[in-house]
Amino acid sequence: MRSISILGATGSIGASTLDLVRRQPGEWRVLALTAHSNAAELARLAREFRAEIAVIADEAKLAELRAALSGTNIQALGGAAGLVEAAAAGADLTVAAIVGCAGLAPTMAAIEQGKVVGLANKEALVSAGEVMTAAVEKYGATLLPVDSEHNAIFQCLAGNDPAHVRTITLTASGGPFRDWSLDQLTAATPAQAVKHPNWDMGAKISVDSATMFNKGLELIEAFHLFPVGLDRLRIIVHPQSVVHSMVEYRDGSTLAQLGPSDMRVPIASVLAWPQRMDTPLPPLDLAAIGELTFRAPDETRFPATRLARQAAEAGGAIPAVLNAANEVAVAGFLAGQIGFTRIAAMVEDVLSRYAPAAPSCLPDVHAVDAEARVHAREMMELA
Ligand code: NAD
Ligand code: MG
Repeated sequence: MRSISILGATGSIGASTLDLVRRQPGEWRVLALTAHSNAAELARLAREFRAEIAVIADEAKLAELRAALSGTNIQALGGAAGLVEAAAAGADLTVAAIVGCAGLAPTMAAIEQGKVVGLANKEALVSAGEVMTAAVEKYGATLLPVDSEHNAIFQCLAGNDPAHVRTITLTASGGPFRDWSLDQLTAATPAQAVKHPNWDMGAKISVDSATMFNKGLELIEAFHLFPVGLDRLRIIVHPQSVVHSMVEYRDGSTLAQLGPSDMRVPIASVLAWPQRMDTPLPPLDLAAIGELTFRAPDETRFPATRLARQAAEAGGAIPAVLNAANEVAVAGFLAGQIGFTRIAAMVEDVLSRYAPAAPSCLPDVHAVDAEARVHAREMMELA
């Protein structure tokens, strides 16, 4: 039996992961489950999966979690320190599925155990960049991408020498506003933004998908996971979300990974790696889908991928600034404080006024992240 910890167990990725774990009785010992503030749901999951540790990030909910777990021997922890403690408990596989830079410290703690980490929490890698990849190297951890595009690329690279890669192309659905005019985008509401045509996801990544910041963050994520150089990384819009990404080799061969747009497919490949496991999904029916189409991204309506590429080129702390500004802007948009097109404009403004030195350790990354948030909040108040 292998042990598993899920950071962000109550979220969309957490639920998909637990769905697969539930279907493999006897295969997994659930070590730790964590959540932000939904103590009742966390306790329910911890009881169902007989977790050893349950962590609620919001300390104010710890008493509620303890009460909900009374009569069990599940250890209840709270706060940022509790998240790190649980992540450091040393599961054979840790699924990092917290949303945002809030997941960085526990993800790093899991990496430091030198085991396998399935990374969904792209913001952590975007912010920490080399600090995280250096830790993976130093502690001998295995970082497996959960993000569908990166998981696809990982599969397309298997058995090949990265030196032979000509290009890596990330596919993007284009999100719910793919065909909207700039005028329409200006008036886009949070309810419209979180309604993704192909994927069922948490609110933050749904907004990122609508702005294309998701693809921007993924470009930076790919830059760190697959070091073939930024100039070899491409983005293409593919509305059907069937081809999850592709790798082109020097001989002109392109390998692509296809599958249903359900995160249980990439999650299953991480759970079973290097083996394969069953998923409850119907087989891909290409005849029913009929057509797969592709088009170039439009960076006039969706400047996010341009900003992300520039941030990756600049390197150092700049991707962390981009990420933090985007997190604040998305929260502001969801709260009705700023309009949809202000998200990218705000990120660009923060990037133009705050360019700190490259972080060399985790506390540096947290400092950059915190300071960038201050700038972004100031900008939001001015808006
Ligand atoms: P979600 O909002 O559904 O879930 C987020 C989880 O993190 C929840 O368990 C929540 O309780 C926890 N959390 C939120 N804020 C926290 C905080 N401050 N401290 C501690 N825990 C906190 O999000 P999601 O859609 O599952 O996405 C999770 C991550 O996976 C994101 O980084 C996202 O970009 C990435 N991802 C998601 C999908 C998808 O289909 N949902 C696909 C690819 C990548
Ligand atoms: Mg993705």
